[in-house]
Amino acid sequence: MSRRITHSALAVTAAASLGLATAGPVLAAPISEHTDMDVTGEAALAHLQELSDISLAHADEGHRAVGTPGYEAASEYVEEVLEASGKFDVTRDTFTVPTQTFGEVSFSVEGEAQETFSTLSNAEGTDAPLTDTAVTLPTDDAYGDQAGGELGCEAGDYSDTNAGTIVLVQRGVCAFGEKVTAATEAGAAAVVIYNHSPGALNGTVGDRVEGNIAGASMELAEGDALREQILAAGDTPVLGDLTVETTFEDIETWNVIAETKAGDPDDVQMMGAHLDGVAEGPGVNDNASGVAGLLAVAEGLAAQPHDVDNQVRMGFWGAEEIGLVGSTEYVASLSDEEKERISSYLNYDMIGSENYVIGTLDSDGSDVPIPDGVNVPEGSVELEEIFTGYFDSIGQPHVGTEFSGRSDYQAFIDNGIPVSGLFTGADAIKTEEEVELFGGTAGVQQDRNYHTIDDTYENVDQEAMGIMVPAMAYAAHVVAYDLDPVASVDRDRISVKDLKKSGVEVTVTNLEPGQTVDWTLTADGRTKPGKSPASGTATADESGTATFTVKGIDPSAVRGLPGGYTVSVDTGDTAVEVGFTVGGKG
Ligand SMILES: [Zn+2]
Repeated sequence: MSRRITHSALAVTAAASLGLATAGPVLAAPISEHTDMDVTGEAALAHLQELSDISLAHADEGHRAVGTPGYEAASEYVEEVLEASGKFDVTRDTFTVPTQTFGEVSFSVEGEAQETFSTLSNAEGTDAPLTDTAVTLPTDDAYGDQAGGELGCEAGDYSDTNAGTIVLVQRGVCAFGEKVTAATEAGAAAVVIYNHSPGALNGTVGDRVEGNIAGASMELAEGDALREQILAAGDTPVLGDLTVETTFEDIETWNVIAETKAGDPDDVQMMGAHLDGVAEGPGVNDNASGVAGLLAVAEGLAAQPHDVDNQVRMGFWGAEEIGLVGSTEYVASLSDEEKERISSYLNYDMIGSENYVIGTLDSDGSDVPIPDGVNVPEGSVELEEIFTGYFDSIGQPHVGTEFSGRSDYQAFIDNGIPVSGLFTGADAIKTEEEVELFGGTAGVQQDRNYHTIDDTYENVDQEAMGIMVPAMAYAAHVVAYDLDPVASVDRDRISVKDLKKSGVEVTVTNLEPGQTVDWTLTADGRTKPGKSPASGTATADESGTATFTVKGIDPSAVRGLPGGYTVSVDTGDTAVEVGFTVGGKG
């Protein structure tokens, strides 16, 4: 995966001098070093604008969220771009994903609307509106003691008085789902969990439990006030009306998968970006940016004069925002053999954050410790070094960002596939140190528009895109192409005397470690018929570099020593040449 960056101006194609070019198709120059393929941020921004337009055209239907017409339209756009490149086979991999939508969600007590009443993900709704239903507290009475007061964690926390009622319990000690299940067992009609600290609760009951009663949430102050109201009423029931309309539906969605027609299918290099967004906004940075970057990279690869050596496969993931579903389904659908053929996965999720950092997934834990329980497959460090080496080479500061598994690379690392990726930041707070490196504003989020209606094209940082997109293209080139062997000499002119004594040192790079090559030295146009030129073999070291010295060419083999010489190196499947001149004082 991580291939060396080499520079050599002296290599010439064997094909031209051996006359091969006339026998077959014109051969493009060898690939002696990796490149960003001239893929620019602007190229990606053009795609980003299109994806933004699609999201906004479907704003009323949930933008590009899973299951929406916007997701369909964005998929069609991605497919068209990739198919137009002519170099990719494009498919849709469909899968089923459970979704939940809400209708009316309301709770009033004695005619008073409860303003912070809200949903709990995966909780059941009411079969029919509950009206004039008593609102009660669990009978565990250690309120305020988070070790078990009115928390309703188990059946013993309830009594007959809770049967048929709306039970108000506080957050704490056990999971939301356990509270709902315990209240269900106690025969309650619905359960409202209120927060134990200020702020919205945004809870989930975990896996859906069909047959449980309706569950919902409230904020702390309103919950506390309702509790006081119930206690103050004593034996007089406090009556409420509660409705939670919710629908669970298995919907079919898909990943768009594109793979190059060319390249070794046993050495697949994957890269991916999620194509879906949240319903709350157009999702331009999150994550039309990663998608647009990958489309520009795909076009860059397609425009290269060489077909890729290794197959490149791109995943445009669906249903990421509701739990990394698309990428997880994709990896789960692969056989062990198919997984083994995948050499790397590069993830791009948010590359144009308005208050950006230039972040690489920190697979060696050098900047951010690897979180407990996160597996870092072997090879991930080398993948990250493609990015860090690239940024270093252009003088671009960069930081490591947490290798958390909180995006579509999770399923890949769980299956031992090496992973890296780029990230410009979401809800983390930008530090003073980061401002020194990248500018922007300290003390606020790296993307203040994250998951909001303001995640628009206008709020994407074009400078960040201009840094990240060429880095993506460079990494794609590194994983897609094997470098061709390159021969170079330590001097291009040498005296007759020195040719006999010290000789010329020839270096051949980009070989396989341990590979043996044959070389020959000829005096250009002056070899006598029937005389062999000087020749030998050399073996590459573990970095794939072979070094040998040519000297003392047999003077009887040539009509005159001064003049041009050529070293030809036969590497098995290709031949490379390098020249030098003998003569003068050298
Ligand atoms: Zn995202």
